[in-house]
Amino acid sequence: TAKAAGGQAAVATIFDKIIAKQIPATIIYEDEQCLAFKDINAQAPVHFLVIPKVKGRLSQLSKAEPDDKPLLGHLLWVAQHVAKEQGLEHGGFRININDGSNGGQTVFHLHLHVMGGRQMGWPPG
Ligand code: 5GP
Repeated sequence: TAKAAGGQAAVATIFDKIIAKQIPATIIYEDEQCLAFKDINAQAPVHFLVIPKVKGRLSQLSKAEPDDKPLLGHLLWVAQHVAKEQGLEHGGFRININDGSNGGQTVFHLHLHVMGGRQMGWPPG
């Protein structure tokens, strides 16, 4: 259960409502393990998020344990797969994970940002 996961990870976020389809989102990919949907505040012509459907302990990447490695690999695979479906195959794209306060994380449910369709700058802000 969510409670058994303990701590911050047990706290529901807006993403739980998106997973439950209680609030609308533009879902562009879904499988048993994850969901991809467009970011509501897009920072690039293409900007979507990839999230695990079951958050468990993964309120943020740094909570990962060795058992999470297959899921983390799957999220990364889905990110590039959907990026190509979204037309980013030739121009390329950026995948970003914000972790914690210094990382600029605002929603504590692990998510990969995938952005493309413009030239990205470096370093990021
Ligand atoms: P973070 O800052 O935690 O890395 O990123 C959270 C992201 O979630 C932000 O880019 C924000 O725009 C997006 N976001 C927050 N609430 C919603 C929502 O209700 N719907 C969608 N589609 N995106 C959201």
